[in-house]
Amino acid sequence: MLMPMPRSLLWNRFSIGLLPGVLHVAGLSSLIMLVTGCSGVPPVSQDVVVKRAQMHMGTVVSITAVATSQEGAHTAIQAGFGEIKRLEQLLSTWIAESELSRVNASAGRQPVTVSRETLDVVTRSLEMARVTNGGFNIAVGPAVEAWSVTERQRIPSDAELEQLKALVDWTSIQINEANRTVFLPIRGMRIDVGGIGKGYAADRAAEEMKRAGALGGVVALSGDIKTFGVLPDGAGFPVGIKHPRQEGTLIAIIDLKDEAMSTAGDYERFFERNGVRYHHILDPQTLRPARSCQSVTVIGKEGTVADGLDTGIFVLGPERGMALVEQLSDVEAVIIDDQGKVTVSSGLRSRLRYP
Ligand code: ADP
Ligand code: MG
Repeated sequence: MLMPMPRSLLWNRFSIGLLPGVLHVAGLSSLIMLVTGCSGVPPVSQDVVVKRAQMHMGTVVSITAVATSQEGAHTAIQAGFGEIKRLEQLLSTWIAESELSRVNASAGRQPVTVSRETLDVVTRSLEMARVTNGGFNIAVGPAVEAWSVTERQRIPSDAELEQLKALVDWTSIQINEANRTVFLPIRGMRIDVGGIGKGYAADRAAEEMKRAGALGGVVALSGDIKTFGVLPDGAGFPVGIKHPRQEGTLIAIIDLKDEAMSTAGDYERFFERNGVRYHHILDPQTLRPARSCQSVTVIGKEGTVADGLDTGIFVLGPERGMALVEQLSDVEAVIIDDQGKVTVSSGLRSRLRYP
C-alpha cells in the first residue's frame, strides 16, 4: 500500500506542486515518483536516509543517500550532484562550449577530441541505435531543433523535414577510440543525447556516491532513475510509474534494487495544435513525433541502457518493442500504447504492485 506516505518523501511531488503550468514546457515534473519510507517496517540498522534536490540538465535532480551518518550522506549527495554538473558541461548542447557542441559545430569539417565520458556516451548511443534498429538515433538533432518542442513549438513543413533526412544518418557518425575523436561527416549534422544523457549521468553519479561512501542511494533526473543498495530496513527503493493521461495517478509501483528505471512519454514535453499532440520523441523515419505509444518504462541494470531503450522502444512501438525486451536479458518494460493499453514484460509481472 502507498498510504500513509509522508508528503516530504514523495519523489519530486514538490516540483509538481511548485511549478504548475510549466510542466510540459520545461520537463520539470518527474515521469516517475519515488516513494521512499513508506514500507512501514521499522529500520533494522541505524543508517540514515537523506534526500536533496537541485536543478541540473534542465530538470529537477533528486538524490537520496543511505549512509552511516548524516555527514556521510551529505558528502555522498554532493559527490553525486558534482558529477552531474561536470557531465552537463561536457554533454549539454545548450552550452556552446560543451564538448558535444564543439563536435556539432565541427560537423562536415573535422573530428573533435573529446573526454572519455563523451566518447562513452556516443559509443553507447550507437550500440542502442543498433539494438533498436535505429529507433534510437542520436543523429536526430537537426529534426529536434526544427520542431523545438519546448521553445518555438513550430511544425516544420514536409519539405523541410525531407531535407533534414540526409543529416540524421547515425551510421555515418565516426568514432576513433585510439585518438578519442568524434566526427560528423556532413555539415549540419547534430548529435543530441537528450534521449540517453540523463540515464548515463544517473549511472555516473551513483558510482561517485558509492566512492564517497554511500551504502545505498537513488539518483533521479526527472524520470531517469538509478538505484544502488537498499533502504535501512533492507527493502528496495519503491518507485511509481505514472499514468500518462491522469496526472498524479500511478499505474504501478515497483521496488528497485541495484537497478535503473527510465520512462519516455508523450505527456511531458509537448504542445498541441488543432487537437493534435506534438511531443518530443521523433520517429527517425518520418522525423515526426512517434505515434504508437503514450509511454514506455524500461527497467535494467544501467540507467544508460534503460534511458536509451525507453526512447528507442517508444519509436519501435508496442509489438516490436516488447518483442525486443523479451529477447534482451536483464531488461524489463511496461509499455502503454496509443490507446492506453498496458503491456508488462514477462519478468516484471510478479514484481509490480498496484496502488
Ligand atoms: P526525457 O527523459 O528527457 O523525457 P527521453 O529519454 O524520452 O526523454 O528522450 C527524449 C529526447 O531524446 C528528446 O527531447 C530529444 O532530445 C531526443 N530524441 C528525440 N527523438 C529521439 C530518437 N528517436 N532517438 C534518440 N533521441 C531522440
Ligand atoms: Mg530515453
